[in-house]
Amino acid sequence: MPICPSCRSEFEVGTPRCTECDVALVEELHDATSAADTVDIYACYETQQAERLVEILEEEGLDVLVRDRSSTLFPTNVGKSAQHIIAVAGSSADRAREVITSAVRDGVVPDDGEMLKA
Ligand SMILES: [Zn+2]
Repeated sequence: MPICPSCRSEFEVGTPRCTECDVALVEELHDATSAADTVDIYACYETQQAERLVEILEEEGLDVLVRDRSSTLFPTNVGKSAQHIIAVAGSSADRAREVITSAVRDGVVPDDGEMLKA
């Protein structure tokens, strides 16, 4: 059953995106990306940037969570205007930061997000 990686709502088979978070649904949530085990690595202010980064990270074989800042499940200390927090498993955090850094440097995604320190 498709499930939203951000808010964890379940949807009917065939649903492509979460209606609340506007993120792509996944078939299952891996233990590696359970909330307790992830690290916030990047704050995005634009949905499109978040989506693009998720695509890029998944192409690198990383499991990615996007936390909506409005979600009470995942309170963050990021600035008020941050809309989407990219999070990955702790063991993947360094790799994910490298991928994002190079994507921004190469102009693949806009340079309008914010790298979060560990
Ligand atoms: Zn959702």
